[in-house]
Amino acid sequence: VLSARDVVKHFRSSDGSVTTAVDSVSFDLHRGETLGIVGESGSGKSTTGRIALALEQADAGTVTLLGQPWSSLPEPRRRALRSRISVVSQDPLSSFDPRWNVERILVDALQRGVFPSASARAERIRELLDQVGLPHAVLRRFPLRLSGGQRQRIAIARALAEAPDIIVLDEAVSALDVTIQAQILDLLVVLQRQHGLSYLFISHDLGVIAHLSHRVLVMKDGVVVESGTPDDIFHRPQEPYTRELIASIP
Ligand code: ATP
Ligand code: MG
Repeated sequence: VLSARDVVKHFRSSDGSVTTAVDSVSFDLHRGETLGIVGESGSGKSTTGRIALALEQADAGTVTLLGQPWSSLPEPRRRALRSRISVVSQDPLSSFDPRWNVERILVDALQRGVFPSASARAERIRELLDQVGLPHAVLRRFPLRLSGGQRQRIAIARALAEAPDIIVLDEAVSALDVTIQAQILDLLVVLQRQHGLSYLFISHDLGVIAHLSHRVLVMKDGVVVESGTPDDIFHRPQEPYTRELIASIP
């Protein structure tokens, strides 16, 4: 459903120096699967995710979403395609309007999706809260007043409300404590099966990545140094860097 071929992205800073954030990255994300991207800070994971979301334009290479290359599409088609892909980030608070309660957040997402009537939306909102394991009472609450785990569940419910094919999860559980992390990861796996979702799952934590990825890309300095199944990566790492990463897991 999503593929990247030889994607390159440079950033030029004000002093004229150039950072190559992403260098010749290629991958394929298949329907119903999770592709994990792991690597240390600054290795180019988020930039890769933003290019997949067309929030960032690649300098070279192609990204194809549902058979359509992002770059060659006229704006109306781009907008239609963008609705097929949602995002959950590390701190969803920054993507929530603080004046909106949870109900408004979800209604807004559903309006952008395919739920035109108010009664259909109310029904769908009840389903979404059940799916992410939150009580209906949270609808009246504001994101600032929710716990980190609850916010992350709302961010996931909002992504589901948009009825996407793909969700880009960028450090989506990294800020949570380990037990909440495990709950959210399990939830993601269940939702993936129910909805046939594909995930581009970005994390610096190889343990988390291995937990739910079907395939893993290991990135270092903008380059994919190794890719394979979690089993390959853990038990048959080919690259010294991958072995270092495994050794660093507590
Ligand atoms: P982290 O784990 O810290 O989130 P990351 O793997 O997501 O790191 P990126 O955010 O993709 O890394 O950054 C890759 C490189 O590109 C870094 O060197 C970063 O400083 C640089 N970079 C990213 N975004 C920009 C930007 N908007 N302008 C300039 N440089 C950028
Ligand atoms: Mg990042």
